[in-house]
Amino acid sequence: MDVILKPDRQRSLERRHPWIFSGAVAKISGAPGAGEIVTIKSADGKFLAYAGWSPKSQIVARVWSFNETDRIDAAFLRARLQASIARRAALLQSGVSNAVRLVHAESDGLPGLIVDRYADVLAVQMLTAGIECWRDTVVEALREMTSCAAIFERSDAEVRELEGLAPQIGAMFGTVPAEPVRIQEHGVDYLVDVVLGQKTGFYLDQRDNRRRVMDLASDKKVLNAFCYTGGFSIGALRAGARSVLSIDSSESALVLAQKNVLLNGFSEDQATWWEGDVFQALRTLRDKAEHFDLIVLDPPKFAPTASHVEKATRAYKDINLLALKLLTTDGLLVTFSCSGGVNADLFQKIVAGAAVDAKVDAQILARLGASSDHPASVHFPEGEYLKGLILKKL
Ligand code: SAH
Repeated sequence: MDVILKPDRQRSLERRHPWIFSGAVAKISGAPGAGEIVTIKSADGKFLAYAGWSPKSQIVARVWSFNETDRIDAAFLRARLQASIARRAALLQSGVSNAVRLVHAESDGLPGLIVDRYADVLAVQMLTAGIECWRDTVVEALREMTSCAAIFERSDAEVRELEGLAPQIGAMFGTVPAEPVRIQEHGVDYLVDVVLGQKTGFYLDQRDNRRRVMDLASDKKVLNAFCYTGGFSIGALRAGARSVLSIDSSESALVLAQKNVLLNGFSEDQATWWEGDVFQALRTLRDKAEHFDLIVLDPPKFAPTASHVEKATRAYKDINLLALKLLTTDGLLVTFSCSGGVNADLFQKIVAGAAVDAKVDAQILARLGASSDHPASVHFPEGEYLKGLILKKL
């Protein structure tokens, strides 16, 4: 079935951007069903791409291929999966971690599909009508290509709603893991709850940055805000931090975090966990005149899209301002944004504004991004969502 674009609306596809917005469509021949493969053509009838149809979404189609001679079938999907998995082989073999993202959706040529490997368990998200159609092919191929013990589906992300798809959670192969899965990263053990944890269970995109924090944490008094299950906290302990205070609003995340402390041979009293709202907690610490040598700020997405940017800007500025005030002189702030609506440039400006209001000088020691198993295609800037800065307070 053909989808004909309005005049001059082919430009982004010619630049290999994989999304077709409903507003760009002039005419559809036939009535493609959800997930069906359509041929996208320019107003003058030129072939542009094959794409998966998402009738309920604003992003009405996502590109499988820009190559007219391709056939979009099970063999095509398998080849894309194989290539994506092969790109992570060196990382898995390096011994850095046995937990990696095997498939990163659009950036791996597989729109809507996320596959995270946690030891021998895979956690999968199918987020679009286009990939939903290939469910059986994907599960079969993953079993074969990874020899995993189980595949667990976590298609409970909000974006599925925009596609008109109901949430799906459960075993796709093997049994539901009864206990959290144990992984190892940079020599640190973590428990990952693939069934009830956030996203697919663990923030793999922060792997390299957890290493950076480990390299900085020796002998430091550390504050880890938005700590989830303690990724940065346990790393800091392992690196010889003097003390680590961690804050998160999720009780279940903190329960797992405390198990992670014991799992790594530390005693309970070596880390302090604070269940609460970071915005409030930072103010309480300020009022008590507390100070820290190293602060990590890794908040959730405040601006999922451009429309939330103003409110998100205020939130980022608030926590960064408070954190800068809580730092000792020469202290380090490792600060992140995973908001698609806030680019690296804007994030730096927000942090600079926070420093002005906090009346402090700071230097940027490093710019951070997601680990290499979360690549961004050059044609798909939306894939580059995580940005961070290491700042030194002067
Ligand atoms: N740094 C973590 C990932 C952080 S994800 C890691 O490396 O694993 C963001 C975390 O912020 C989540 O755990 C979520 O529970 C928590 N969170 C969201 N809003 C919060 C708030 N207002 N106060 C405290 N924690 C919050």
